[in-house]
Order: sequence, then structure tokens, then C-alpha cells
Amino acid sequence: MEDTSHPTGFDQTVVDAFGRPLKSLRLSVTDRCNLRCSYCMPEEDYVWLPRDDVLTFEEMATLTGFFTDLGVDKIRLTGGEPLLRRDLPRLIRLLLQNHNIKEIALTTNGILLSDQAQALYEAGLHRVTVSLDTLRPERFRQLTRRDEYARVIEGIESVGRIGFTGFKLDTVAIRGFNDDELIGLIEFGKHFQAEVRFIEYMDVGGANKWAPEKVLSRDAMLATLGKYYGQIEPMPERGSAPAQRFILPDGTTFGIIPSTTTPFCSNCDRSRITADGMWYRCLYATTGTDLRKPLRDGMSDHDMRTLIRAGWESRRDRGAEERKALERIGLREGGLIGIEKLREDPHLEMHARGG
Ligand code: SAM
Repeated sequence: MEDTSHPTGFDQTVVDAFGRPLKSLRLSVTDRCNLRCSYCMPEEDYVWLPRDDVLTFEEMATLTGFFTDLGVDKIRLTGGEPLLRRDLPRLIRLLLQNHNIKEIALTTNGILLSDQAQALYEAGLHRVTVSLDTLRPERFRQLTRRDEYARVIEGIESVGRIGFTGFKLDTVAIRGFNDDELIGLIEFGKHFQAEVRFIEYMDVGGANKWAPEKVLSRDAMLATLGKYYGQIEPMPERGSAPAQRFILPDGTTFGIIPSTTTPFCSNCDRSRITADGMWYRCLYATTGTDLRKPLRDGMSDHDMRTLIRAGWESRRDRGAEERKALERIGLREGGLIGIEKLREDPHLEMHARGG
């Protein structure tokens, strides 16, 4: 019989209490951001993670190694804005020394991308996703409270020029804000060979501008797009991928991430490490595991893996489904975390846990 055990002695098929494997890891490299999007960072000032607590790249690579020993093979670098962290290509090179990693992707707002894209590509970054919610500079300024639209577009242009494949554009679809831009965004994506993914507006952390009437649902998006493009066909599911993918009559594909109306917790294999080493097993989780302290205290590799394994095996989170269930009793809006509590624990913010 084939020996499937791992060289570390750890069995790679670690599953949680509902049988979900430990597969993809979102690594937040900073909690800082150069935008102030109203659905993510509605305040101007935040309680930032103390600088000394932020993990070094070496610490991130070491932690990631424990996770890959237990089955993770996909890493997504996120933030805050990950390109604010100096010399990100160095982290990518460090991570790629780990041969269990099959893919490293980056989620960025694109502002600093044109300057850094070539170096990221040369370091071995596999895929880039740029967040873009509008094609109208004035709306961009209104949403993000920064005048950076032109630099984002330059960043997007640079991705195609340099030769990245699997390019994606992520758009948070908000009723009354950008619901008239779905077609424009798909056409823009076609021009740059980027697949657009529309994300339903989520009620995570301090997104205190969230309200049910602002959620543009998957069904509403499909109705608008269907009216313009004609028959839209669903594409086969890709396991744990968050986006449901669709194909237009001309062959263009796009995705919808319906986290709010149609949560996909049952397939969720994702967990998140904040820039200071807190590990969260769900985007909605209010408690996590501090991995920085044991790492800095010199816990053995074996014990670090045991800690992570136990954390995953006891995972029962299905935050988006639980939030949805609150809807039935009219309590969904009350599920948002108040600003005082967020100031006490900045980890609860969307921008600290990487979206
Ligand atoms: N700064 C990077 C960026 O803009 O992609 C990475 C971090 S950002 C928190 C990651 C993703 O989370 C972005 O695509 C952002 O639009 C999304 N996001 C933030 N708040 C959200 C919300 N309330 N609902 C849905 N998506 C949200």
C-alpha cells in the first residue's frame, strides 16, 4: 500500500469537526491600508496592531510551513493593503522554498501595483486579484475617500503587460452604488483578460455601513446581466472555490461570491493568519488562536503542528450561515460588532483579517 504519511510524521489529511480539510491559507502581511472603503474601513483612524507584534517574513514562512505540513497548498497574501509591506517579493521567494505550496496569489487594491508587479512576477507570484468596485473616478473617490483611481488602472494595465495568468478583478456589488456598472465591469475585465468576480456585500466586523437593502444578491446580478447578454450558463463547481462561475453566450466567464445570500460554509477550507500571528478559522470568528507567542517562545515544531492540528480538528465555524440564520428572526443587523468593541480588539476588523 502507498505510504501517504508526511515526512514530518503528520498525516496530511487533517479535517475539522464537519469533515472540511485544511487547504487554503490567507496570510495578512499588514493591517494598514491606503484606502478607506466605506464597507471595510469606514473610520479614518484605527487602532493598529503594534509594530513589534507584526510577524517578520521569516516567521510567516515558518508558520506557513506548519500549515503546509498539515495539508495547506494554497496561499493568498492579503492585508490591509499587502503592497504597503516593504519588499513583498522577498516573502514570496521565502515561501516558494516550501515545495508543498502549489500556488501563491495576491489580493491588492492595485494602487502600488504598477511599481511592484514586475518584481512580484520575477519572485514567482502565481496570480493577482485586484479589487475594483467602480469605473467612475468620482465614485471611486466617494467610496474609498482617496483619489487613487488612475493609479489602480495603471496597476491593472501592468498585470496584463507583465504576463500574469489567472488575473481576476473583485468587485463588491452594492445596491444603490455600483449596481449600474455590472456590465461595464465585465467589459472592462474582457479588455484586460481578467475574470470579474462580484462579491455580495458582507456584514463582517466593523462594516457598519452594511444594511440588508444594500446587498445586491446573486439572483439580482444574474437577472441584470441576463437581460443584457442573454442566456447565462452556470459552470461546473470547483470544490471549495468561493465563487460560483458562469459563462456568457460569447464565452466570457465571470464569478459571483454569494457569501451573504447563499453561504458556502460547508465547503470552506480557508483560514486566516493576521499580520501579528492570530489564526482565525472563519471570517466571522470572534476568537482565534495566537500563534505568535508560542512561535516566539520557542515551542517545538512538533508542538506547533499539534496546536494547529487540534485547532482545525475542533473547528465548528460556519459564520456566514449563522449570520444568515439571524435574518429569519430579524436580528442580522444586530450581529454587527460595535465600534467600541472593535477598538478594543482590532483583530475583529475585516481589514485586519484580510477579507
Ligand atoms: N487591500 C486589499 C484589497 O483591496 O484587495 C486586500 C484586503 S481587502 C480586506 C480584501 C477584499 O475584501 C477586497 O476585495 C474587499 O473589497 C473585500 N471586502 C472588504 N470588506 C468587504 C465587505 N464588507 N463585503 C464584501 N467584501 C469586502
